[in-house]
Amino acid sequence: MEKLTKIVATISDKRCEVEFIKSLYDAGMNVVRLNTAHLSLEGAKKIIDNTKAASEKIGILIDTKGPEVRTTKTETDIVLKKDEIIFVKGDPDKFSSKDCIYCSYKNIVTELPINTKILIDDGSIAFQVISKDEDKLTCIVLNDGVVKSRKSFNIPGVPMNLPSLSGKDKDFIELAIKEEITFIAHSFVRNKEDVLEIQKILDAYYSDIKIIAKIENQQGIDNIDEILDNVYGVMIARGDLGIEVDAEKIPLIQKEISKKCIARRKPVIVATQMLHSMIENPRPTRAEISDVANAIYDDTDAVMLSGETASGNYPVEAVKMMSKVAKQVEEYKRDNEKFKDLPHNDQIPLFLARTAAIASTELNDVKAIIADSATGSTIRNLAAFRSSKPILAMCYSKSVMRHLSLSYGVYVENIMLRKSTEEFYHTSFAKLFENNIISPEDKVVVIAGNFGAGIGATFVEISQAKYLYKP
Ligand code: PGA
Ligand code: MN
Repeated sequence: MEKLTKIVATISDKRCEVEFIKSLYDAGMNVVRLNTAHLSLEGAKKIIDNTKAASEKIGILIDTKGPEVRTTKTETDIVLKKDEIIFVKGDPDKFSSKDCIYCSYKNIVTELPINTKILIDDGSIAFQVISKDEDKLTCIVLNDGVVKSRKSFNIPGVPMNLPSLSGKDKDFIELAIKEEITFIAHSFVRNKEDVLEIQKILDAYYSDIKIIAKIENQQGIDNIDEILDNVYGVMIARGDLGIEVDAEKIPLIQKEISKKCIARRKPVIVATQMLHSMIENPRPTRAEISDVANAIYDDTDAVMLSGETASGNYPVEAVKMMSKVAKQVEEYKRDNEKFKDLPHNDQIPLFLARTAAIASTELNDVKAIIADSATGSTIRNLAAFRSSKPILAMCYSKSVMRHLSLSYGVYVENIMLRKSTEEFYHTSFAKLFENNIISPEDKVVVIAGNFGAGIGATFVEISQAKYLYKP
């Protein structure tokens, strides 16, 4: 039991050997993210197969692209200088070159007014539209930069009339269902309808895949409450968000969204550029370390790596660095804050979760909270209190086990369905002793109950392990 904060790492099909994924898992990665902007279905399948082979505890997250616009593929990098004049057209099937930058949105020319700013590749290069013909926009380059294949293409403040799901998204959702992956993170969620469109597909297939809404534009921020009513969790996707809204607003938006998610007991991921310089360098900047630390200090469930692990030179080092920062901040929180209180809303399972969280931090030397989990809901209730002690979730299904890969402080074990308190104690403790996770002398808090009635937890018990179970 090492850190409590979860780590999501993006993996590419160009580097996804089982050994590589295992090395990231050993360094602290909990969830593998597939960025479908850069993947074929075959490539995705390869990452999924290898992740499953690496460990059954790793969550698999497929990131659909949603209503987003990207530049098209390039044959060579396009180097642009300030004040150069370039053309922009919309056609997803054409290659971009110095003669013309194509974007994936067909109607771009008709929908963009003159003077609009276009930001490419998380804003690393900008154009301004100076005139337009029927078939092309003429733009001036605002700063030196390079356009590579399939980079983000943002037009802040100009809402585009794009469908929630592209054809490619639907193909990946089908693959996700077939492969029984864990999460679908949907890009550019604007409102609840964007989420419900995916939920409808999942329901038609009786799939238990959980939806994560990526908040990355103003509409997503404005509609966060109705979005939260309809999703499993949220990703604060700062890459696009930092372009779609003024970048200086991001830190406070991050704090507000994190707080909302925790209060609603929904997993939250802070994403993008967390250790960006580690794509090239073995050591991150001090500002990056502080960024990771701050997100963890604000109690995020998970932090995410993108290019750092997908294509960077130091993927394992980046995950290790995040784990080290997490441990430092968690230790500080353990000594100073202990847990975050939330109302119990007069619900028994929530009241018990709160009781378990308080006991785990107020009583000296509690090693862990041991919890029974049929659906994962007791565990997510518990996780929301952000106890500084780990939650050992005893799961009856592998999919619940993987769903919990995003929840703060949760370690999972698979035990087959138990129908009584005795059976549950016997199987859980035997497993925890056997794997040296708990020793008989350790003080633990147990939250469990119901065993088949479907009403959630019914009791909390606290003692040294040896008094709760004798082998
Ligand atoms: P992306 O999403 O990497 O798929 O663009 C994350 C972000 O925008 O921050
Ligand atoms: Mn994005």
